[in-house]
Amino acid sequence: MEGEINFTFVLMKQKLKFNSRTIHGGQHPDVAYGAVMPPIYQTSTYRQTSPGQHKGYEYSRTHNPTRTALEKSIASLEGAQYGLAFASGMAAIDSLTKLFLPGDHIISTNDLYGGSYRLFENVFARYDLKFDFMDLRDIKHLQTLIHESTKMIWIETPTNPMMRVIDIKAIVEVAKQEDILVAVDNTFATPYLQRPLEWGADLVMHSATKYLSGHSDTIIGLMAYSCPDIDERLKFVQNASGAVPGPMDCYLTLRGIKTLHLRMERHCQNAKEIVTFLSNHPQVDQVFYPGISQDSSFQLPKGQMRDFGGMISFQTKTKDLEKIHQVLSRFKVFTLAESLGGVESLVGHPASMTHASIPKRERERSGVFENLIRLSVGIEDVRDLIQDLKQALN
Ligand SMILES: *Cc1c(COP(=O)(O)O)cnc(C)c1O
Repeated sequence: MEGEINFTFVLMKQKLKFNSRTIHGGQHPDVAYGAVMPPIYQTSTYRQTSPGQHKGYEYSRTHNPTRTALEKSIASLEGAQYGLAFASGMAAIDSLTKLFLPGDHIISTNDLYGGSYRLFENVFARYDLKFDFMDLRDIKHLQTLIHESTKMIWIETPTNPMMRVIDIKAIVEVAKQEDILVAVDNTFATPYLQRPLEWGADLVMHSATKYLSGHSDTIIGLMAYSCPDIDERLKFVQNASGAVPGPMDCYLTLRGIKTLHLRMERHCQNAKEIVTFLSNHPQVDQVFYPGISQDSSFQLPKGQMRDFGGMISFQTKTKDLEKIHQVLSRFKVFTLAESLGGVESLVGHPASMTHASIPKRERERSGVFENLIRLSVGIEDVRDLIQDLKQALN
């Protein structure tokens, strides 16, 4: 199949700017009929003309042309050599973690997606993988935790839900001395705002369920990296374990990615206005947003993010759980729901929703108390969003 595509066309596309690669990366008019959009190859298997003679595709767990287009698209956006798609963000992290062996040690952000914590601590710890969770802004502390079994540092930045920004380059400098893999969950930032491979990370993971697909209509995970050895090992696990997305989900994500740059601009713009509103609201205590430094002992890494995204957390002044639940139930434009990154605004209560799988003590150590509310700011008219916050916080 690849052989039939005009090669200069593909080369030209690799040179395009980011906002063009969202639309063209990994995609080319369909060879069969010239369809401009990538066809949804809804097939499990492919005809062989004689055993082993085929056009590069044998079985859709291993490869599927719609999935290939998406895998090339994420590689193009992250500036990577390779991309891989999985059935969910968790399936991507699961496959990556399967590259390690019993006794291997992984250091992770302590303020992270609840499902990632659960997978590490409640699934992989049973296979004797060792985990440490820490505030990765503290490089000195990180150095004390590294030992000869340490194989990976798992960074989520901005962190979820506290929106702390972790310095990828500073961690890479420490990790490279010890040959430790650095992987970044780039779900909150997206490649539009932050490209971890450019700061030296080895691997980027996305819950593309969120901003990349962008319309809250699919569950899907992506990885991007440039090392051929990682590619070989991850592709092996992807095929052996089989947690792959269907072609329809790949198509929806490709379609979402085409407007990523436009959506992200508006998410950022709306979020900034809401941060200003919340910061001046009498019922609001602290506001957490990646552009706001939370702790003077940690500097925000310069230039790591182009802008600060659409995710905001804030503490209500009241700590009365019943009152907090009343606030959450009053929203009319924001929808009270799990997840984030869609065109529509969502509100969530991390302590009882996204982060309920993290033990209370661990959760509160990273700052997730019951009075924390998390917003995924959508791309609606910001005046409607502020009006909704006003009436809900009242
Ligand atoms: C949602 C999310 C995940 C998990 O992805 P799924 O697609 O839900 O499996 C991982 N990391 C972050 C930061 C997330 O927001």
